[in-house]
Amino acid sequence: MAKLIITIDGPAGSGKSSTAKLLAARLGAAFLDTGAMYRAVTLAAMQSRCDLADTAQLEKIVDSTNFKFEIKDNRMTVKINGSDFTEKIRDPQVTANVSAVASMPSLRKRLVPIQRAFAGQYEKIVAEGRDQGTVVFPNADFKFFLTADGVERAKRRAKELTENGYKVDTNKLQTEIEKRDRQDSTRKVSPLIAAADAIKVDTTSLTLEQVVEKILGLIKKND
Ligand code: C5P
Repeated sequence: MAKLIITIDGPAGSGKSSTAKLLAARLGAAFLDTGAMYRAVTLAAMQSRCDLADTAQLEKIVDSTNFKFEIKDNRMTVKINGSDFTEKIRDPQVTANVSAVASMPSLRKRLVPIQRAFAGQYEKIVAEGRDQGTVVFPNADFKFFLTADGVERAKRRAKELTENGYKVDTNKLQTEIEKRDRQDSTRKVSPLIAAADAIKVDTTSLTLEQVVEKILGLIKKND
């Protein structure tokens, strides 16, 4: 197990991924993007034209597909049966389906050990997702829960998607983000929730640099 584990959880667009990456770089740590894993399974299921509501079919996909997650150039790359799908897993269609897939307990049961094994390869790890501080690494050294208001989160996602060549309607995006958060927060297993011992950071009016500085300060203070 890694000697230093930092978890960052929070809703879509709260800044988790960018924060985890920059924080990891500052600390000389690896980072784990667990959303990429749920997205990869969702994409593989969509490519197999499997019924996304059918747990047995999804389990089959997970068990028969070769998923490879690696950190390269400060980003997590995703291979499905040997082909690179790092960009494709961010496709809005995958985003629209991922919460339903991620709500399946048997799927989570398969992915959690993979996440722990991934972290185990490194001395220091920053793990981001929805359940990292509550379920996957309950004994993490530091836990953070990022939040930001809905309009700001939609704006951030719109910017990200536009930069990647997608056409977006920010209002529609905000509705979709709210729907996904509702699904993630109300599911029975590993819901999106702050761990009791997580430090909450509202990123609404902070730049990425300010969020990371704040977290580094909190780590120093609580060490
Ligand atoms: O973080 P990202 O937006 O890539 O996550 C995509 C989806 O994966 C989330 O909306 C959630 O449904 C699921 N997820 C999860 N648990 C995690 C990480 C992501 O359920 N630890």
